[in-house]
Amino acid sequence: MGKTLDGFDRHASSPRAKTLRHRCPECGQTMRGTGKLYYLAQKDAWFVEYFCEREQEIIPLWSPDTQKLAEEIAADG
Ligand SMILES: [Zn+2]
Repeated sequence: MGKTLDGFDRHASSPRAKTLRHRCPECGQTMRGTGKLYYLAQKDAWFVEYFCEREQEIIPLWSPDTQKLAEEIAADG
């Protein structure tokens, strides 16, 4: 377990989160989940952390498609 990114209230990690994919908002390339999730209490939202290989950058994103799965993963510990 790494440290929680600045601005987030909780974090979780699971191999299941590595199966998630999302289009990079910067370059459009498909990004892979890193396995980490971050929770923002203010919005009751779980952000999935992705890694863009093109920019070599870690990008946390929220999507309605991944919210439920992220909640399940976090509940599993
Ligand atoms: Zn990118």
